Amino acid sequence: MELLDGKFLAKTIKAELKEKVAEYKAKGWRTPHLCAILVGEDGASQTYVASKARDCDELGMESSVLRFPSYISENELLGEIEKVNINKQIDGLIVQMPVPEQINPMNVMNHIDASKDVDGFHPVNVGKMFKGIDTFLPATPYGIMMMLERYKVETSGKHCVVIGRSDIVGKPMAALLMQNTNPGNCTVTVCHSRTTNLKELCLQADIIVAALGRPEFLKANMVKEGAVIIDVGITRVEADNARGYVIRGDVAFDEVAPKASFITPVPGGVGLMTRIGLLQNTLKAYEWHMAAETRQF
Ligand code: NAD
Repeated sequence: MELLDGKFLAKTIKAELKEKVAEYKAKGWRTPHLCAILVGEDGASQTYVASKARDCDELGMESSVLRFPSYISENELLGEIEKVNINKQIDGLIVQMPVPEQINPMNVMNHIDASKDVDGFHPVNVGKMFKGIDTFLPATPYGIMMMLERYKVETSGKHCVVIGRSDIVGKPMAALLMQNTNPGNCTVTVCHSRTTNLKELCLQADIIVAALGRPEFLKANMVKEGAVIIDVGITRVEADNARGYVIRGDVAFDEVAPKASFITPVPGGVGLMTRIGLLQNTLKAYEWHMAAETRQF
């Protein structure tokens, strides 16, 4: 069994990105800039946004956070997004989800300029991804694809079972794994809460991506010998420690790992690669914007 080590890989890729940013700045170009919009006081959202800002800082990129109260109206929020859309100093914009219930998240995603949509959620970018056109990829599946590529995990012709069909993980994961690319070229089965023969399908899988949000759901008796196991799940489970909880993935790691050829740990796996996905997208947005500004690409 080989560990797909997100911590090591994230560090490696961050060093590469940092070097790229330094090269651009040495040319006299402006600094890449990621802007995050945060609505309300949700603790987890604040933590996520803070870690994204820290990542930018580490790479020499600029970041900013626009904070709005939880009672902001949808129209007002769309107006604020518009201001970022037309700001030529900002390359990427993310609106941290969830947003309060008076705001339709779909309207928010549709309103972000597609060239700044570094989360890859805008319908134009989703469409491009499905057609295999170069664009921003949703950060979690993008991070997983990088992991498979860097660890040279063979995917061509393999049967991959994706558990979960969300817009941010399951659906784009399936789309990327089925593309005629490397990694890719998988035969993909997508399972969800209405799937009736999940165990049977998992037992046929060469690769399993577990993204359902149920701690330790995937057990050893659902996995065939030598399978590649990607654990996307992040769930806080109550525990008798100082924090009062531990983080658990969707895979029962201790019993599944001995059967796996490759496996991601939680924490230290997909979560860190998701952050790399966002940074890669931000740099891509910057390169595209600079290409338009300087016409040098
Ligand atoms: P979601 O709740 O939007 O979707 C869950 C999916 O799982 C649904 O499509 C549902 O049909 C399916 N599902 C639920 N129960 C099932 C069952 N018993 N059998 C089969 N399918 C079932 O969740 P999401 O946003 O896709 O996130 C999934 C998990 O991944 C969560 O734990 C989330 O915290 C985590 N996550 C991690 C990262 C990361 O960076 N590591 C990023 C995004 C999400």
